[in-house]
Amino acid sequence: MDTSPSNFSQEDIRFMTMALQEAETAAAMDEVPVGAVVVAEGRVIARAHNLCERLRDFTAHAEMQAFTSASEYLGGKFLDKCTLYVTLEPCPMCAGAAFWTRIGRVVYGAKDEKRGHSKFDGELTMLHPKTKCEGGSWPKSLLNCSPSSSAPSVKPPLSRWRVPLRHA
Ligand SMILES: [Zn+2]
Repeated sequence: MDTSPSNFSQEDIRFMTMALQEAETAAAMDEVPVGAVVVAEGRVIARAHNLCERLRDFTAHAEMQAFTSASEYLGGKFLDKCTLYVTLEPCPMCAGAAFWTRIGRVVYGAKDEKRGHSKFDGELTMLHPKTKCEGGSWPKSLLNCSPSSSAPSVKPPLSRWRVPLRHA
């Protein structure tokens, strides 16, 4: 577990909170609770959550939905000026998709020890060499704060998002 001090900005916390709200929506639909948002120049251009059950499609991870939406919004397939906020470390499929989008930055919530892409990375990461990737070191205050407080709301705590992806 990464215990290094957090260097996430208030903006990062705000967007990760939105991703967590998407994960809550997924949970309410009996989906694996993973949420994602894509931000360009400080604006959210895509919000998505896992839809594997509803679409009966294992490629319907939150990140895949978010990439498609963001590309549609921008009218182009490259997301190099964008940041993806996702509640769980991307799996190899989503890291591969992120590679092709050349997304500028990936910020994830909880590390996925079982299926996170970093577990499968060899000498080279699956992400694009120009993609900055940070995650797994959120401040405890973010994990514990109440949704009704003025602080960024995170409910349930990030640890809940450490749900391994189900397989048929
Ligand atoms: Zn994935």
